[in-house]
Amino acid sequence: GNQNINAKLVLLGDVGAGKSSLVLRFVKGQFVEFQESTIGAAFFSQTLAVNDATVKFEIWDTAGQERYHSLAPMYYRGAAAAIIVYDISNQAADFLRDASFERAKKWVQELQAQGNPNMVMALAGNKADLLDARKVTAEEAQVYAQEYGLFFMETSAKTATNVNDIFYEIAKRLPRV
Ligand code: GDP
Ligand code: MG
Repeated sequence: GNQNINAKLVLLGDVGAGKSSLVLRFVKGQFVEFQESTIGAAFFSQTLAVNDATVKFEIWDTAGQERYHSLAPMYYRGAAAAIIVYDISNQAADFLRDASFERAKKWVQELQAQGNPNMVMALAGNKADLLDARKVTAEEAQVYAQEYGLFFMETSAKTATNVNDIFYEIAKRLPRV
């Protein structure tokens, strides 16, 4: 039969990777060029129908700043799903080519050590519209995701590419009762 599922979902990743923009696109269908930085965390909810279930996502959009790191467990504890976001163009003010991707890997490690072991984890390579500025290939992210048991998609909050899709893929993978 058809089920109603409530699923806590957390977005993690470097500041500026596009976490808030992905949520804004998913929840409101909007994009803004000058998205304000998230303070602490923000809460949203959105319902999605999949074949056999109606999934109500309870979404925690975290800040990403190191100074809020100690708060992160409050948001990922008990979460059914996580989207770990990096910026394929790594616009982070960091000299490392792939700092945003490296930050994402740290979050994956932390979730795998401390999070719910059945958590559905998605890796989002966001800003896929910025092809000319690409620093991280889809291949290397795919290899990483496969190795650590996440599923991977490149997304663009700006063009809406794969945004609904990544939430839909998570909804499909959530355990059914
Ligand atoms: P957060 O810190 O991870 O929440 O990142 P934000 O959502 O605040 O986005 C940081 C900046 O990147 C903002 O200026 C956004 O407009 C921009 N941005 C977010 N997603 C995309 C995207 O998919 N493509 C492009 N070109 N810019 C994006
Ligand atoms: Mg934000």
